[in-house]
Amino acid sequence: MTNTMAKRDYYEVLGVAKNAAADEIKKAYRKKALEFHPDKNPGDKSAEEKFKEAAEAYEVLSDADKRARYDRYGHAGVDGMSGGRTSFEGMTMDDILRRFGFDTDDIFSEFFGGGGGGRGGFRTARSRGERGANLRIKVKMTLEEIATGVSKKIKVRKQVACKTCNGSGARDSSSVDTCSTCRGSGMVSRITQTPFGAMQTTTTCPTCSGSGQTIRAACNVCKGDGRVFGEETLDVDIPAGVHEGIQLSMSGKGNAGAKGGQPGDLIITIEELPHDDFTREGNNIMYELFINIADAALGAQVEVPTLDGRARIKVPAGTQSGKIFRLREKGIPALQSYHRGDQLVHVNVWTPKKVSDEERRLLEQLRNSPGFQPNPGKDDKSFIDRVKDIFG
Ligand SMILES: [Zn+2]
Ligand SMILES: [Zn+2]
Repeated sequence: MTNTMAKRDYYEVLGVAKNAAADEIKKAYRKKALEFHPDKNPGDKSAEEKFKEAAEAYEVLSDADKRARYDRYGHAGVDGMSGGRTSFEGMTMDDILRRFGFDTDDIFSEFFGGGGGGRGGFRTARSRGERGANLRIKVKMTLEEIATGVSKKIKVRKQVACKTCNGSGARDSSSVDTCSTCRGSGMVSRITQTPFGAMQTTTTCPTCSGSGQTIRAACNVCKGDGRVFGEETLDVDIPAGVHEGIQLSMSGKGNAGAKGGQPGDLIITIEELPHDDFTREGNNIMYELFINIADAALGAQVEVPTLDGRARIKVPAGTQSGKIFRLREKGIPALQSYHRGDQLVHVNVWTPKKVSDEERRLLEQLRNSPGFQPNPGKDDKSFIDRVKDIFG
């Protein structure tokens, strides 16, 4: 984003009226922040810009003084005001999240009602140690696997709990003290300025990372971290109906947390392998069938592959190239319903590229034969009409 770009109206950014009450503005901002939060849109630059834009709009509109200036003078009234930068341009995501006094976890735990689980900041129940990092893997899937769903065993390299100290990081039980900063609770309270006003937040104790304990003598193997690099074979269940690029998350299957903290999540990105016979269109699969001119003219029984074995199709006499047969529910099951797509069989009448002398003689006889003269009728729809029939 550059400074030459015209800035959008802050009310428009948050989708509120000019006379919106403070709590409406707050609500609208939370909605936008949640929608465009970088955690929900990893790597998405436009979402990041929208998140920044909303944060900037909120900073101005949530402050009565700044809002009044903005109402009166527009962007010029608040840009470059003393007492802090109002423009968020050039700031990183981390800058913004820091400036707002909450980290990525806090904003989410607040939106989602806080409480237990792996996300930090607002936890009420004590949870030891530092949460482990998410682990990201790619899983390649064939169309056959996608049609049925699969359980795979996948070997990954990740941080696992140290076996020597059971993940505690301590050399032995006598080398553990109660943390003096938090007196063993693992949590400390502080007052933070946030866009929602001054808030008392309870956060993980920085001294002991929430374990409530400090370690006098560290474990020799993990050097006090409580985890080591290791290999693990994960059982991964992938439901039917996934597609290229979709992400699945398995709670607690990621990297181990430090000093006995909760593990991170496993984030699986699906890679769909190309198929020799089929192409996928949504939940339908397309198959190109080639038949010879005799079968097309006289009719035939043909076999076609499907995702679950072979199927027979009756090709009626007089079938034209371009005809599409539909095999109901031979496609991909929808991810979140009982609906299953179809297999569409697209007929191509094969024209010989090379003919023997005998074939040439027979074809010469047919060349001027009356039934072989093209005479398309109403039933012989154009390709476009057929596609419309299928999808429309
Ligand atoms: Zn250890
Ligand atoms: Zn502590």
